[in-house]
Amino acid sequence: MYRFSRAIYRELAGEIVEDPHGACAHAHHERVLRACEAAVERLATDRHYFARPARTLFADIRAYFPMSSQLRVLRVIERYLQFADEFLAKQPQNGFDVYGNPLQCRASTRKGTPCQRMPLPHNGYCPSHQHLAETEELESPLAA
Ligand SMILES: [Zn+2]
Repeated sequence: MYRFSRAIYRELAGEIVEDPHGACAHAHHERVLRACEAAVERLATDRHYFARPARTLFADIRAYFPMSSQLRVLRVIERYLQFADEFLAKQPQNGFDVYGNPLQCRASTRKGTPCQRMPLPHNGYCPSHQHLAETEELESPLAA
């Protein structure tokens, strides 16, 4: 996944403004790179809850660019996060996320062992357990 964050960084690195009084000459470059990585990682692992990734990343890093670069920065972010999102959407449902972590239903079977079935991306439960996602919201205030 990091090829997407590196691509954003490479396109924009030449326009990053460093603080001439800062302790480290590359501090802003470092922050831009980390912010790009964090956004792409969140897109990969938390896609369902990450509503506006391009706007979020732009808000995080725009301060490190001059006014004249702002529109280009936003366009570059939008383009590469779109590529990343298309890449993620095309991944086969093979039971692993892009980092190789196995996907598993959040429910337990009647025997008390974790359900081994593939979860649905939008609620984390397999098709036979997805009714639990609906009751979950009702139960949690009572359990607390
Ligand atoms: Zn299940």
